[in-house]
Amino acid sequence: MKYDIIFLGGGQAGVFGAYEAMKLNPNLKVLIIDKGRMLKERVCPKEKLGKCVNCPTCAIIYGVSGAGAFSDSKFNLDYKVGGDVHKIVDKNIVNDTINYVVDIYRKFGFNEEPTGLKYNTAMEEIKRKCIENRIQLVDTPTMHLGTDGSRKLYTKLIDELLEKGVEFKIERDIEGLIIEKGEIKGAKCLYKGKLEEYYSDNVLLAMGRSGAHKVMEMSHKYGVDCTNGAIDIGVRVEIPDIIMKEINENFYEAKMIYYTKTYRDRMRTFCSNPSGFIAAEKHSDSIVLANGHAYKNKKSKNTNLALLCTKTFTKPFDQPFEYAEAIAKMSSMLTGGKLLLQSYGDLKEGRRSTDEKLERLNIVPTTTDYVAGDISLACPKRILDNIMEFIEAHDKITPGFASSDLLLYFPEIKFRSTRMTLNENMMTNIEGLYAAGDGSGYGSGLNIAAVMGVLAVRDMVKKISKK
Ligand SMILES: Cc1cc2nc3c(=O)[nH]c(=O)nc-3n(C[C@H](O)[C@H](O)[C@H](O)COP(=O)(O)OP(=O)(O)OC[C@H]3O[C@@H](n4cnc5c(N)ncnc54)[C@H](O)[C@@H]3O)c2cc1C
Repeated sequence: MKYDIIFLGGGQAGVFGAYEAMKLNPNLKVLIIDKGRMLKERVCPKEKLGKCVNCPTCAIIYGVSGAGAFSDSKFNLDYKVGGDVHKIVDKNIVNDTINYVVDIYRKFGFNEEPTGLKYNTAMEEIKRKCIENRIQLVDTPTMHLGTDGSRKLYTKLIDELLEKGVEFKIERDIEGLIIEKGEIKGAKCLYKGKLEEYYSDNVLLAMGRSGAHKVMEMSHKYGVDCTNGAIDIGVRVEIPDIIMKEINENFYEAKMIYYTKTYRDRMRTFCSNPSGFIAAEKHSDSIVLANGHAYKNKKSKNTNLALLCTKTFTKPFDQPFEYAEAIAKMSSMLTGGKLLLQSYGDLKEGRRSTDEKLERLNIVPTTTDYVAGDISLACPKRILDNIMEFIEAHDKITPGFASSDLLLYFPEIKFRSTRMTLNENMMTNIEGLYAAGDGSGYGSGLNIAAVMGVLAVRDMVKKISKK
């Protein structure tokens, strides 16, 4: 079967790309292939059973709407946050396209105003403290949908795609590409043990973080140009809301970047969830990663956020993905496939945490998917030193942050170690093969994934209409 456009991955980049395709030309034959299920069938048994039962395909990570479906959905309104596609596309085009995507959000019912547009005295004081302590505060306006709000929005968007004739092939594992004489001709996928082939001259690789490893393997196999990207390794921390009150109430999320004095490594805060919940994401049998989210209508008493160390390796080392994977495996080995949790107090004292010691704290963990232990047994010294230095620096902005009540869940890793070589239209060196979102190495957030999907499709449609 031949299609005008095939999306490999039905996440944020895929669904917004498909929306753009149907808007530009409703007669196009469009296919979305995804490893997971349709959004309405994406049900995590943990919601009923209270614990992870190791489904073969995790409904939280895989499925139509992608990682965004269960995410807190903070949508950043500036190119500076969510990726660095501005390295290959003019910043104004990125921002204009972000605004265009916001209009689509509004069309599907999101009507709240963004936060962080105007500074009040409290915000000025936070910024002043950041300047005083060598922390860069990346302050961009943000819209917050919440995990429940984003599900509603995606439901409406996907219903419209179905109505307009977009086809979905779900529960298909992308296995390979079909390339002839340097041009894309389609893709192969596995469905219930059988190999299927779908054909198109325009294919968007949009397999997100969950598909990043597969994208890397396919790039090497088919000669798609790419380079080693950075890898982000760190912890997700959880702290009582009262410690984060000023930041939460004024910024919702304050994105901070800090270069450590000891190693000059880059540390950053990421994805802060006021009154949120910790999530344990199972990426494979031996990899469980920490993450976090927040609902609009269900609240905890804790804020969670990631503290990530960005590592770029120099030659001859060229396996950052495997390096991070090995760290995650080591942690899972210690815990039997759960998150490794330690209080900051125990970490500083060089003692492991235990359930009994955690009960003496003022904070109650918002997940049970953890084993209390010692992070220093699994986390490389350099990364752990960086994390601890960043915690102490953060304490100067939010007093109480570096307290014993700070819980550290290990590991949180952002796998985006392959950076594809793309032109300004998101096309790779293979004619007709485009890439977008987290899996391309240029995205790390909803805004940039959608922007890349839209820009790629605009180029495809231009080419199709010339034929
Ligand atoms: C818990 C959590 C919270 C987050 N919170 C935020 C936030 O608040 N704000 C923000 O901007 N970003 C957030 N993010 C990041 C954001 O969700 C991603 O940046 C965004 O979804 C990337 O879009 P994408 O299209 O590149 O990939 P995804 O949305 O991940 O989509 C990739 C798709 O590819 C499919 N796929 C993967 N492998 C295969 C395969 N082998 N075969 C077939 N299909 C495959 C997957 O099923 C998935 O549907 C969060 C992420 C998580 C996990």
